[in-house]
Amino acid sequence: MSRYIATRAIRGANALVIEAELMLNKAIKEKGPDTPVVFPNTAYYLPLIYGMTGQEVETLAQLQPILEHARTLLHPVPSPNHWTPYLGETLDSGMATLLAAETIEAVRFVYELQPEPMLGFELAGGTAYSNNGNGLVGHLNGPIDDIQLRSWGIQLVDGRMPGFAAIVGAAKSNEVAVKIVRELQRRNILTFLSGNVNGRSIIHQLSEEGVELGYDTYTVPFGTDTISAIYALGFATRSALTFGGLKAGQARDILLYNRERVFAFVLALGEVDDLKYAAAAGAINFGFPVIADTVIPEILPTGVTTYEHVVSMPFAEIDGADDLERAERLVQKCIEIRGVKVQVADVPVPVPYGSAFEGEVVRKSDMRIEFGGKYSRAFEFLRMTSLDQVVDGKIEVVGPGFDEIEDKGHMDLGIVVEVAGRKMQEDFEPVLERQIHYFINGASGIQHIGQRDIAWIRISNSAGEKGFDLKHFGKILHARFHSDFGAIVDKVQVTIYTEPDQLDEWLATAREAFDYRNRRLSNLTDDAVEEFYSCTLCQSFAPNHVCVVSPERLGLCGAYNWLDCKASYSINPTGPNQPIKLGRSVDLEKGYWEGTNDYAKVGSHGVVEEVAMYSIMENPMTACGCFECIVMLIPEANGVMVVSREDTSMTPAGMTFSTLAGMAGGGMQTPGVMGVGKFYLISPKFISADGGFKRVVWMSSYLKETMSDELQAVAAREGDPDLINRIADERNATTVDDLLAWLEEHNHPALVMDMIF
Ligand code: SF4
Ligand code: ZN
Repeated sequence: MSRYIATRAIRGANALVIEAELMLNKAIKEKGPDTPVVFPNTAYYLPLIYGMTGQEVETLAQLQPILEHARTLLHPVPSPNHWTPYLGETLDSGMATLLAAETIEAVRFVYELQPEPMLGFELAGGTAYSNNGNGLVGHLNGPIDDIQLRSWGIQLVDGRMPGFAAIVGAAKSNEVAVKIVRELQRRNILTFLSGNVNGRSIIHQLSEEGVELGYDTYTVPFGTDTISAIYALGFATRSALTFGGLKAGQARDILLYNRERVFAFVLALGEVDDLKYAAAAGAINFGFPVIADTVIPEILPTGVTTYEHVVSMPFAEIDGADDLERAERLVQKCIEIRGVKVQVADVPVPVPYGSAFEGEVVRKSDMRIEFGGKYSRAFEFLRMTSLDQVVDGKIEVVGPGFDEIEDKGHMDLGIVVEVAGRKMQEDFEPVLERQIHYFINGASGIQHIGQRDIAWIRISNSAGEKGFDLKHFGKILHARFHSDFGAIVDKVQVTIYTEPDQLDEWLATAREAFDYRNRRLSNLTDDAVEEFYSCTLCQSFAPNHVCVVSPERLGLCGAYNWLDCKASYSINPTGPNQPIKLGRSVDLEKGYWEGTNDYAKVGSHGVVEEVAMYSIMENPMTACGCFECIVMLIPEANGVMVVSREDTSMTPAGMTFSTLAGMAGGGMQTPGVMGVGKFYLISPKFISADGGFKRVVWMSSYLKETMSDELQAVAAREGDPDLINRIADERNATTVDDLLAWLEEHNHPALVMDMIF
């Protein structure tokens, strides 16, 4: 253990705690002790403080004991004359630093100094930030909200997102900054940006280079000072609470959880000052190693982190032909040190490729050409054929390319993928076909929306200039189907049609197949199969949660239906989706079978005894945190409400989605509360044991609007075509009283149904 690091971290911690005390005292004097302190859009109070101390801080005054606690963690700077191990003192100082840093940010929120204002920075398209230089003051992201945390949750657990990098400081040059971030994006590593060196931050560097920052591109600008890096650790703390089923105050468990399961590291760019050493010591508490691109002493493994704690990799000394290569090596080193598992398929296209580009938007002004949408047709169709009818790797474009099409023009396009494999089954066709969306979207500068015969694809100018053309769609699909579905697909052949006659012919063939698949899906009921599937993907975060997935009840994240699980089992027979043989039925109405009950016990490690597939009132299925909607009993209304993740407004239960999410998640069985996937709402088996869809008395308007056709069909099925209009939403009721009045007025059927319990 380096005395040098200990000295500087301890000194940094002492200084920051004093700064926090001064700020807090001043704020209490100026604003009053009862002034509320909140981070926006989180149910976890000040998340790091909440996780580490269990305190639900809601006012300035409640921060005082937190700082008193931080003070007890401070130590005198080591004397030059005595040798001590320092590690304990350094870690304590790190924790004190984190408590002080979160306090400071909370006080800054009171003064509206967070999220940090920044000139010319603006939020565009929902979550993407860019610097448009318009001279107006926008602001940076600040802390990550709960909704985003959960939506990343599923990617974090299924491995699409291997971990996160907290970058603090500024790179040697703008070019290096961009390269580092691109390398991380390419590996789908979430990147948090904060800090500066002499006033210059990597956030400035990236925005000067026009790099789009934000949730959609996996790069979140926290703030231009070191203190804002606290948001990364707040995120880590919440991951443990949300997905790990841990409770606030279980500090040691939360830290261990992060060390074991959250693959994160800190990359310190540029000079490291006392405060950065102190913050680094804080990160080490979480098991996150710190890599610096400057000369600093190292800390070798002691068990707190999995590998080294602090690694120095002076930028100029990195082996490489130029700075860009050095940047690439630096990122590789970070990944090695944290043991981050990364899988990247080698996709031969002339643009960067990776899931981090999936959310990218190609605006009309940046567009070279589009297929589908308003002005042209585009479809994609995947089918299996016999092994001898497919030439693996054959990619053919039938018809003209887009060279002749004017800039920002459009043309018709058909993508036909033919696959063959000994383990391929017809049932997997739609599962694989749906992946086309993700695979194509992974190319930087390509935007893909929709599916089947409503696909809509755009190629950006810059992708066009780099030589991206039609055959590259085929290259992407060939590479990704092999890398992701190699277990069931042996051969992949792709034909791209632009020639009108053949395109028409294939479109007709595809539509016939789509019809056939729709019919097959609607005939696929729980009664028609002998096995359901388990999904334990989320156990890496919520160790006791299991989704039981049946044809009529998809996984609560909405990403896995019965066919997906079946395909996944074929691909990976020892993976997270296992068949559950139903065996003898115990109660068909509530949805109990011997097989599901046995599995529930085993899968939940004994936490859950039984699971009713069709009831919210009796032994409902547990939830991990990824649910698309929360269904909750409103006893006064004799029914349930359904709140969607997109809905941030108040609900009649007196809680918003994010507060409810805290109750619904964590792998516990709570009668009356359930997390579900959207499409379960329209299933005939939706809480059928409790009265079914007619129990829905309140529903977020977002669901009513985005699923209006499907809901209309449910209303017809339930024999009341006007049913959806009888259901209240946040626009007409946010309290139980308002809700009851609305239900009376609209004659909601739940009012005259049997008592729900
Ligand atoms: Fe997680 Fe359930 Fe979705 Fe599987 S189906 S990924 S366990 S939420
Ligand atoms: Zn989950």
